[in-house]
Amino acid sequence: MAPLQSLLLRDVPHGFTTRAGGVSVAPFDALNLGDQVGDDPAAVAENWRRLEAATGLGFSRVRQVHGARVVTAAGPCAPGLEADAVVSARPGVAACVAVADCVPVLLAAPEGRAVAAVHAGWRGTLALAAAEGARALATAAGAPVGRLRAVIGPSIGPCCYQVSADLAARFAAVFGPEVVRRVDGGARLDLWAANVAALRQAGVLEVEVLGRCTACEPEAFFSHRRDGGRTGRMVAFAAPAPISGRGVVP
Ligand SMILES: [Zn+2]
Repeated sequence: MAPLQSLLLRDVPHGFTTRAGGVSVAPFDALNLGDQVGDDPAAVAENWRRLEAATGLGFSRVRQVHGARVVTAAGPCAPGLEADAVVSARPGVAACVAVADCVPVLLAAPEGRAVAAVHAGWRGTLALAAAEGARALATAAGAPVGRLRAVIGPSIGPCCYQVSADLAARFAAVFGPEVVRRVDGGARLDLWAANVAALRQAGVLEVEVLGRCTACEPEAFFSHRRDGGRTGRMVAFAAPAPISGRGVVP
């Protein structure tokens, strides 16, 4: 297993998992980390065990409800609290969200003192979940929002995310016409650009978009839309920098 990473977050343990490295069988092959998708619970548990062993982290997870509520990680936990963003200031405890087309956003405060993970599908994007996560992280870290870094991970891209004219219009009204692409009479939504806009509006200056589309890469990623709803889940996670390592990276 080799979760994808970003140089922008190199001072904190973090990653975006892919399908590789797990034991689940089709259509959940192989590293399915979703326990509500119909996969064998023993396989999902083994996949989590492998992720914990590979990273040395505990994972603070939430019951995602397509909103913008942020919770603070008290310790590793299975999904219980309803929220779509997690902040962690505890080294060794990763803020974690699960996705399979929805947009995962990881954020880090200066010196990796605290981190956040946000889940933003179209509802969460419209609800400005990424901005809520950024504000909560800044408060937790005692740092200005402008000093946070954010990375937008693998999720369904503007190449594949066809939506209704009505939804496209709602997004254009909130984020500007540039988040909608007109193709063959239909509309495709750029959730990446919308979340970048939400983060910038909140004051985050450094934002990276990995630009990997889950629907375009069946070998690498689960995709709810491409796979007709029967598929696994990837996770995006980040943990604060170990205290001994702080101050090394500017
Ligand atoms: Zn695509």
